[in-house]
Amino acid sequence: PYPHMLAPLDLGYTQLKNRVLMGSMHTGLEEEKGGFEKLAAFYRERAEGGVGLIVTGGISPNFRGRLAPHASQLSFPWQVSKHKIVTDAVHEADGKICMQILHAGRYGYHPFSQAPSAIKAPITPFKPWAMASWQVKRTIAAYTRAARLAKQAGYDGVEVMGSEGYLINQFICSRTNKRTDEWGGSFENRCRLALDIVKGIRAKVGNDFIIIFRLSMLDLVDKGSTWDEVVQLAKWLERAGVTIINTGIGWHEARIPTIVTSVPRGAFAWVTEKLKSEVNVPLVATNRINTPEVAENIISSGQADMVSMARPFLADADLVNKAAAGQSELINTCIGCNQACLDHTFSLKRATCLVNPRACYETELNFTPTTQAKRLAVVGAGPAGMAFAVYAAQRGHNVVVFEARGEVGGQFNLARKIPGKEEFDETIRYFDRQFANLGIELRLNTRFTPELLNDEKFDEIIMATGVVPRMVKVPGFDSSNVVTYQQVLRGEVEVGQKVALIGAGGIGFDMAHFLCESESSTLNPSAWFKQWGVDTAYQNRGGLAVVKDSEAATAHQSRQVYLLQRKTSKIGKGLGKTSGWVHRSVIKQHGVITKTGVSYDKYDEQGLHITVDDKPEVLDVDTVVLCAGQESNRELESALQATGVPVHLIGGVDVAAELDAKRAIRQGAELAASI
Ligand code: SF4
Repeated sequence: PYPHMLAPLDLGYTQLKNRVLMGSMHTGLEEEKGGFEKLAAFYRERAEGGVGLIVTGGISPNFRGRLAPHASQLSFPWQVSKHKIVTDAVHEADGKICMQILHAGRYGYHPFSQAPSAIKAPITPFKPWAMASWQVKRTIAAYTRAARLAKQAGYDGVEVMGSEGYLINQFICSRTNKRTDEWGGSFENRCRLALDIVKGIRAKVGNDFIIIFRLSMLDLVDKGSTWDEVVQLAKWLERAGVTIINTGIGWHEARIPTIVTSVPRGAFAWVTEKLKSEVNVPLVATNRINTPEVAENIISSGQADMVSMARPFLADADLVNKAAAGQSELINTCIGCNQACLDHTFSLKRATCLVNPRACYETELNFTPTTQAKRLAVVGAGPAGMAFAVYAAQRGHNVVVFEARGEVGGQFNLARKIPGKEEFDETIRYFDRQFANLGIELRLNTRFTPELLNDEKFDEIIMATGVVPRMVKVPGFDSSNVVTYQQVLRGEVEVGQKVALIGAGGIGFDMAHFLCESESSTLNPSAWFKQWGVDTAYQNRGGLAVVKDSEAATAHQSRQVYLLQRKTSKIGKGLGKTSGWVHRSVIKQHGVITKTGVSYDKYDEQGLHITVDDKPEVLDVDTVVLCAGQESNRELESALQATGVPVHLIGGVDVAAELDAKRAIRQGAELAASI
């Protein structure tokens, strides 16, 4: 299987065992006490899982380049031994690892950040200091020193982060580089920093050391590079001595999504492909490559020599080995949700994975074989129940799962119906195949009742019955035109052309998207590029299409949707840090009208009567959809407690404050590890 993806890649003095690069991700362990031991365990498992080349999270070459005040840095010989713990672990597992050197430039989240010019980034509160010429030279020296120390620490190479809008990228583009000295002005001058860094590193580390350069091939911001400039820089980099060129897509401040789940799979491989005929060094394609099938297609069609997958290795350390063994059905696929990885990183929490709570907890959350196999009943096959069942069965317990509906998945079965959330299918597939693989008995269309215990014996019962939508008591809400989000997503009710959504949390946003977008642009890349204004002909700087406002506004207006919330806070405030802005943009594209601080007065034949700022108004709507949260489905609890068999509550039935699959899966896993 996957002959192109699994083919070795010869780099001259060394060989990679396959074409899969584990892309750079910050885990948060870098800064934790004892974190390098945990990092070593994390990377060791990925190396054992067969990945061809690992790239670490970004390490700053100096103090000024740190992403945050306490972010990691490699500048001094005494720091080498910590890194050695990581490189030794990877080499013992027959893997290869490069250290990414990342200078944040104006993205540094501290008052000491430096950049080519003193222009604040729209995504940070700190205005950077403009670098003096001697400081630029000192920064180059810091890069070469970091690379030399990385070699001493046993790394097989370094990756120079030149994209996503970080320092080097800030020098390359006139958007952020207003200098008039030898580091600014002409394109050649703006590229000098990138090239001097690469030449400096190559001179220091010799030829038997990998230098990857992550090149911003599509900036997706105003005043980004032109395609000709990208090609020119790639050629100069090749001449300067890079071993591999990795693809960077979009600055962090770009307002076009590049990695969230609604980005089509492999959407940006065409950019890497465009560069293929221009240079001879191997090229790596990136962004939303999450299955071996997508990877194989990209490599076999000649779009790139390698693929980078980052988050997919949080979701499943064994991705490559499973693919090689013909077991890709058993891969726990990254669904691009960002909820436990990037959203954690941006809130300075340790990264992990929604679908794999063990990620970055390799030394803390383990599923060791049990010495006392129990017979366990799991009631409900939503995310919490499925996760518990799989981990408990892996430990050797005998697990029977009862599900009242005809399918597993719970709330994930609803989520997957939202345009742009198709990836949730993969998690359901994963658990479903693991059930079969582990011999978990699944009884669909079966309600668990206490009477069942008269005929069958269970040592413990795990209640994972999930949630039911919260009803809102307002006069007239007993009308058949007032429905729940679950009824809508299950196709049980008709929804009219004028709709009010009660509740503007994650579900309200999803519902707005569902009602406004009849076809998912995620499954139709050309529609998606048009929707977001990506110029695939690459005629403009940064790859931005010129979108006429009138075109954007009339894109989809088949339904009039109002998104309402009681709270006076900004709409969508509670959405994920890295994906919330995408959801807010989507509802704007669809012309959804939002209102906050709403009180609901009544519903009648005129529509929905509300009061906002003491002013009453009537929304002429034919359907009201309740998206106002949920309550634990505890119907069975007291009856089960009365049986005397120990009962555990996990997932939404335990806490239903918000739909929280991350918490549900972790809770299922932790109970399975300890039961
Ligand atoms: Fe992928 Fe979500 Fe896991 Fe992040 S948390 S690795 S996006 S599945």
